[in-house]
Amino acid sequence: MSNEVRSLNEECGVFGIWGHPDASRVTYFGLHSLQHRGQEGAGIVSNDSGKLNGTRGLGLLSEVFKDERHLNQLTGHAAIGHVRYATAGTGSVDNIQPFLFKFYDGDFALAHNGNLTNAKSLRKTLEQNGAIFHSNSDTEILMHLIRRSQKETLCERMKEALNTVKGGFAYLMMTKDSMVAALDPNGFRPLSIGQMVNGAYVVASETCALEVVGATFIQDVNPGEIITINDEGLTVEQFTKDTQHAICSMEYIYFARPDSNIAGVNVHSARKNMGRILAQEAEIDADMVVGVPNSSLSAASGYAEESGIPYEMGLVKNQYVARTFIQPTQELREQGVRMKLSAVRGVVAGKRVIMVDDSIVRGTTSRRIVNLLKEAGAKEVHVRIASPPLRYPCFYGIDIQTRKELIAANHSVEEIREVIGADSLSFLSEDGLIHAIGLNFDAPYSGLCMAYFNGDYPTPLYDYEEHYQATLKEKMSFL
Ligand code: SF4
Repeated sequence: MSNEVRSLNEECGVFGIWGHPDASRVTYFGLHSLQHRGQEGAGIVSNDSGKLNGTRGLGLLSEVFKDERHLNQLTGHAAIGHVRYATAGTGSVDNIQPFLFKFYDGDFALAHNGNLTNAKSLRKTLEQNGAIFHSNSDTEILMHLIRRSQKETLCERMKEALNTVKGGFAYLMMTKDSMVAALDPNGFRPLSIGQMVNGAYVVASETCALEVVGATFIQDVNPGEIITINDEGLTVEQFTKDTQHAICSMEYIYFARPDSNIAGVNVHSARKNMGRILAQEAEIDADMVVGVPNSSLSAASGYAEESGIPYEMGLVKNQYVARTFIQPTQELREQGVRMKLSAVRGVVAGKRVIMVDDSIVRGTTSRRIVNLLKEAGAKEVHVRIASPPLRYPCFYGIDIQTRKELIAANHSVEEIREVIGADSLSFLSEDGLIHAIGLNFDAPYSGLCMAYFNGDYPTPLYDYEEHYQATLKEKMSFL
């Protein structure tokens, strides 16, 4: 299902470049291709001979950088940028990144994708020791830790700070003479490096952003790595060797763009495989397969190919309506669906439809879409979900941190089928998902995080442990 019709949001996207005369403009275009990772705010900080300048604001990238002047002011050969959706901290402009700090010994900028699981206790300790925070996001914590470190070099101070924060993090930092990328020890979020023909290095949350700016992929940032890029080139170091891949499976299922590769696996191909395996696991006789635009189209085409049932465009999306995530209430969200999606009567009327979607969060949107198809005359609607049921909260950078919001946390598949009004309902199995993505790391689940489905968190939950235990007792309240 598209971002626009479901409230399940990625935290952020980051992009940076070192060694280009028009760095902030390239960053703008890179961020543009990462807009799906955050639409609440955006910012760019450029580096002009060691002096950092930034612009940031609420809204889409095109709203923050309304005209050329905003970018023209951000001069320099290097820049980092950020698009934000808030999971930690509020949506105020103070929380929009990159954060820019002016120190006596040089400027420093910081952008973050992910969520720290020990942010609350770290912040408390830091504040008790005199730290003053300008935002309520967890990102600023890293800067305080770096500044307080007694280690000799900046790189050592960064390494110490990176070993102190826990959870999911992909950081992009800019100092007066370098750009630094770092990824948490599990590599929850993707982070890749590319190079442009002029030699400029590019770092981005997704490889689609490399393509957009004409950079060639050279390597992923691996778990536990800190990569420094400066005029001398690129240096890879480990801030910890205690690493184990646990790449967020929802990146493959839903968040990432289909033209991105994560750990060498193309997202569209992974989704198509999910659809294929789903067709093997949950076969049903029908007249057509229909995907819910946009992120389910790849899975639907895989399902159709495998089952031999024709793929049809039974649902169309209106691209030009406001995004649902800015409508906070359930009631408004439900109203919004109808504006965003339409069932094609001429295609589905009188037909048995297999509706393929990538996931079910609350169930209310699925109910609306099934209803749209039925109102348009579909004889039967069989819902096939190309991921396992979402039963547990995420603490690594996705905005569902309570089980109350997840229909599968407290309902059987049959109960969900009834709630959404489908004629039948099936989910992809966990093994099917792992197989479809096809990672091959020597780690649980072949290197995927599956916590959303089975509660098997790859790390201790630190500050969230108590909260998590409480959520296990929660009952659904919205139905
Ligand atoms: S809990 Fe779910 S959403 Fe969060 S990192 Fe793991 S797989 Fe991704």
